[in-house]
Amino acid sequence: MIKVRDIPQSSLEYSRIPTEELRERIRARKAELNAVILGHNYQRVEIQEVSDYLGDSLGLSQEAASTDADVIVFCGVHFMAETAKILSPSKTVLMPDLRAGCPMADFVTGESLRRVKARFPDAVVVAYVNSTAEVKAESDICCTSANAVDVVRSIPDERPILFVPDRNLARYVAERTGRECRVLDTAASQPSSATPGLAPILAWDGYCYVHDDLVLDELAEARKKHPGAKVVIHPEARGDLLREADYVTSTSKMVEIAEKHDTLIIGTERGLVDRLKQQFPLKTLIPLSGAAICGNMKMNTVAKLAWSLDHLQHEVVMDEEIRMRADRSLRRMLDLSGGWRAPTAEESALEDAGIRRSGCGCG
Ligand code: SF4
Repeated sequence: MIKVRDIPQSSLEYSRIPTEELRERIRARKAELNAVILGHNYQRVEIQEVSDYLGDSLGLSQEAASTDADVIVFCGVHFMAETAKILSPSKTVLMPDLRAGCPMADFVTGESLRRVKARFPDAVVVAYVNSTAEVKAESDICCTSANAVDVVRSIPDERPILFVPDRNLARYVAERTGRECRVLDTAASQPSSATPGLAPILAWDGYCYVHDDLVLDELAEARKKHPGAKVVIHPEARGDLLREADYVTSTSKMVEIAEKHDTLIIGTERGLVDRLKQQFPLKTLIPLSGAAICGNMKMNTVAKLAWSLDHLQHEVVMDEEIRMRADRSLRRMLDLSGGWRAPTAEESALEDAGIRRSGCGCG
């Protein structure tokens, strides 16, 4: 057991401790606290190596909701740790570095969303899980890149959809569901493939700088070097690139696709490609862009993780009313029946009274 007097106080001091010693501290402290470490696919390899579970944000939150651990250390970005706290309110959720935020999530705030909702009172609000708790609380249902198409299909044809914050994912979903996509307060629209009778998707003008920066020239270059390679790209990328891909899918599904191909060009953050290369050392796995690195995701280090466990910092705390409303949007998505539906009068009454079963339907 590590005694409090033995431990350095600042995370900077931890960075001077040899890696093997840090790993040992992490192991000991995890056992002491009954803690679990959840690592996102985009984390540094050193973090992935000490994580108990690896995955995308939703998979990790489901893991958070079903684990018996008392303490969850979330190695990802802010909205992911928040999502874990929303789904597991009785657990202590920690982040090794509070500055690890998501610029895409920051495109929309609760207040800006409330203002736009007032302009479109008939719209169903769909929040990509890459959003703050406050934005989730203002939304009718959440979605992930893996289930966004199904969530949108579950919404009645005549209801417009306010989709936040990723315009690229909104466009992709619009193409797949036959809805027109209008990017809010811009002239950008995508009407050509729209099906008559379907109300449009009104997309927030946000994006992920890592995926939005992937360009056709890089894909052409990668294809020239690896002719015949299949191409998989994340739907946060731009539409012109997605139309060139053999597969458009979430990071979790990319792992399954990599199992099936010997040579694969992968259009997402480098952390996933690095992980897949370790997992499949005999395959040729090519990052679509070597520069596709999310600096926010890389803020977490093993030294900060060890500090976080030793000092029980930084704890995620949130207003209970916001948490409950955000929980409702997440659980609509997680509902085993799938997709959006209007809550029954009984469900609304229970939610308003704060009486709702805990635990994740998918757990
Ligand atoms: S990769 Fe993009 S969406 Fe993910 S945390 Fe970084 S900025 Fe946000």
